[in-house]
Amino acid sequence: MRKPIVAGNWKMNKTVEEALLLVEGIKRELAECREVDVVLCPPFTAIKAVSDAISGTHIDLGAQNMHWESSGAFTGEISPPMLRELFCHYVILGHSERRQHFHETDEVVNRKTHAALAANMRPIVCVGETLDQREADQTHAVVETQVRQSLAGLETRQLIETIVAYEPVWAIGTGRTATPEQAQEVHALIRSVLREMSDEAVSDSVRIQYGGSVKASNARELFGQPDIDGGLIGGASLDAASFAAIVKSGM
Ligand code: PEP
Repeated sequence: MRKPIVAGNWKMNKTVEEALLLVEGIKRELAECREVDVVLCPPFTAIKAVSDAISGTHIDLGAQNMHWESSGAFTGEISPPMLRELFCHYVILGHSERRQHFHETDEVVNRKTHAALAANMRPIVCVGETLDQREADQTHAVVETQVRQSLAGLETRQLIETIVAYEPVWAIGTGRTATPEQAQEVHALIRSVLREMSDEAVSDSVRIQYGGSVKASNARELFGQPDIDGGLIGGASLDAASFAAIVKSGM
C-alpha cells in the first residue's frame, strides 16, 4: 500500500515573512493529518525559516532544484549537503520550468537524481509532455524516454526512494487539468516502464504524483485513480486552506 504524498511547489514566490505566515496556516490546517506525506518546497531564501517553523511537526521540507556536485565553482548554485544541513529531505528535479527555461536535459536530471539519493534526499523527478507532443500522439514515447533516462542507473533501493511526478506541461499553471482518465493512463504507463526497469515489487512501491492545475475541487477524483499517489501542487499550494484541502483529498 503506497502512502500518498502531496508536495507544494512555491516556485519563486514568498518572502521569508510571507513564507512563515503560510506555514503557520498550513500547520494549523494539517495538525492532525498523518495519512498523507506533506512536503513544502519554498524558494531557497525561505528554506531555513520554514525548516525551523516545521521542526517537530510531521510536515517535511523539500527544495525546488539543486546542483549535482557537493561544492565548487558553480556560481549561484546550491548543493545537496547544503540542503541536507537545513533538514531538506526532498528535492524537485527536472521540473518542466527548469527544462524549458534553464535547458535541463534528462542527462542533467539523472545526475541530480543520483546526487540527491547519495545525499540521502528523496528526488521528486518530474516528467511530462508538451501540448504539441500530446497532439502529435507522442505522449507515451516522450514520458517513457524521460523516465528511462532520468532514472537510469538507479539501484533497486534507490528507485523505491524516488518519487515520480507526472506533470503534463500544458496543464501547469494553465487552469487546464488532465482528466482523471488521461492522468491515470500515463501513470499506468510510468508504472509499467518502472516494472521493465526493475521488477513488479519495485514498480508497485514507487509513488507517482500528478501535477498540473490541481485544486481542491479536482484533487479527490485525481488522487482516487489507482496509480495516482498524491500530487505536486503549484499555484494552489500558496494558500493554506486550498493546499490543506488538497492534502485532505488524499486521505
Ligand atoms: C507545478 O508547478 O508543479 C504545478 C503543478 O503548478 P500548478 O499546480 O500551478 O499547475
